[in-house]
Amino acid sequence: MAIEEDQTKRTLVLKGIGVSPGIVIGKAFIFDQFDPQITFYRLQDDALVSKEIDRLENALRESEKQLQEIKHKLQDMGGEEPSYIIDVHIMILKDKMFLNHTLDHIRDMRVNAEWALRMTVEKYKKLFDKVEDDYLRGRFSDIQYVGQLVIRNLSGGKREVIADINKGVVVIATDLSPADTAQMMIHKVLGFATDMGGRTSHTAIVAQSIEIPAVVGLEYITKVVRTNDDVIIDGATGLVIVHPDPEILNRYVEKRRHFLELHEEFLHDAILPATTRDHRQVEIGGNIEFVEEIPSAVSHGAEGIGLYRTEFIYINREQLPTEEDHFQIYRHLVESQGIAWSTIRTFDLGGDKFFSKPKVAKEMNPQMGLRAIRFCLKEIEMFKTQLRAIIRASAYGKVRILFPMISGIEEIHQAKRIFSEAKADLLAQGISAGEDIEIGVMIEVPSAVVVADALAREVDFFSIGTNDLIQYVLAIDRINERVTYLYEPLHPAVLRMIRQTVEAGHRAGIRVAMCGEMAGEPMYTMILLGMELDELSMNPVLIPRVKRIIRETTIEESKALLKRAMEFNSAVEIREFVEKTMKERFPGEFTSS
Ligand code: PEP
Ligand code: MG
Repeated sequence: MAIEEDQTKRTLVLKGIGVSPGIVIGKAFIFDQFDPQITFYRLQDDALVSKEIDRLENALRESEKQLQEIKHKLQDMGGEEPSYIIDVHIMILKDKMFLNHTLDHIRDMRVNAEWALRMTVEKYKKLFDKVEDDYLRGRFSDIQYVGQLVIRNLSGGKREVIADINKGVVVIATDLSPADTAQMMIHKVLGFATDMGGRTSHTAIVAQSIEIPAVVGLEYITKVVRTNDDVIIDGATGLVIVHPDPEILNRYVEKRRHFLELHEEFLHDAILPATTRDHRQVEIGGNIEFVEEIPSAVSHGAEGIGLYRTEFIYINREQLPTEEDHFQIYRHLVESQGIAWSTIRTFDLGGDKFFSKPKVAKEMNPQMGLRAIRFCLKEIEMFKTQLRAIIRASAYGKVRILFPMISGIEEIHQAKRIFSEAKADLLAQGISAGEDIEIGVMIEVPSAVVVADALAREVDFFSIGTNDLIQYVLAIDRINERVTYLYEPLHPAVLRMIRQTVEAGHRAGIRVAMCGEMAGEPMYTMILLGMELDELSMNPVLIPRVKRIIRETTIEESKALLKRAMEFNSAVEIREFVEKTMKERFPGEFTSS
């Protein structure tokens, strides 16, 4: 049976220009600006002309009064940059040329004030259109805003104002004036996304200065979002996700939490290597779901991509992605600046990862169902399409392929055979591939840990997926909140499995990484160093803290901590011991509550 799906609530990922970093998750509010329907009429006699001039002057005074009010409110809240933008608007309002042009139109052409004002704004538009500099050309929006404000005051029309909307919403609009944006600070808007706008627009500058996450230039977001829809805004990557499914939502809740915890705090030394005091270097990777996250991963100190969850490529598509679609994405990934290697995990569809295409059959117990490598080995053509694209991309940068959910040797044999066939086909067609593609398996199913020695002889590296490993070892559904209290990375069974995996890998001379969430939790960093993992890959925002702990400790000290932790038989005791030790060892790093 196919998954039932409400077509109007399908997850939609839009890419715009992220102009102010931060993550917001909230309800959308469509901010439908008043686009004044400008009336036109001729003034029949001189008396009407002077009445019209009075009307214009009143509207100008009223507009100035409103702008001054906004400015004072902003200043009271300490908003330097936003209040400066209001000053610019007041200057335009008082500008002699702006006024004289409008008066001339009223007097000479005998047209009403709204029409005269519109002609003035049009005149400025023509002048600004000729300006080459993007930034200066973008300043026309200030004149346009002032024109609209005065027209609104002339016609008594109601333009929706930010002040009228509820607090705590995500504003979605065609465009926002800098003044609207500035007012968001007063009215506690969570974030915004617009169809129009660019990086240098005042709207973008204001969003940054008032620290509201924002994405502009989305082109058609107002067409696909309705008030009260759930939306996520990632102002760093420029992604806006509409109707996020539970999987994506959970990831962004985490991302937001980490972002808030960390902010930019440790960014300055994030690019230093993760080398312990006794000179052991640990490779640090970033986990990503979208390639747009790469610059942020690099700035947070990722040396490579330790886990690219490629199933996200399949989100919300009418058609399956083609080989070319995949290839373009992977090429972009491997060629990205600052990324030394890219671990591309073949798609892990099924389980809790629901997508519009392919239609995955509904299963009673999807976590243990036809997901990940099992699904790939059934849908071989779909699998090959992806593999061919990855192999092609390997000609442009260092690629590591990672197979998810491997439970035994047959699956790795089959996956490798399909990989070799795909590679041979490409080479036969004269298409080049990288010389040194590494093949690895995720160790996330308990049986894989038990046979890790055999698997290690088949691959170039392991990557431990603690998210799934813990759910399977402790038999707890990772998305069921009723059993999350049992989810314990420091459970002795989990620790023994990690140790066993690392030992099996190292005995066979291969690299062992960890890419589950456990790798990014600073509380566990010394435990993992003690395990002698070669690579830790995590949500990029966590990298600076983890690196800092690595740089301040030694492998010897970490091994001693691990040895003592593993002497306890109870998870509770291990946790108490590890937390106490870490808090004492890094007093500034962990709150002592
Ligand atoms: C894991 O299971 O630990 C992992 C990294 O993969 P995912 O969270 O995508 O299942
Ligand atoms: Mg997993």
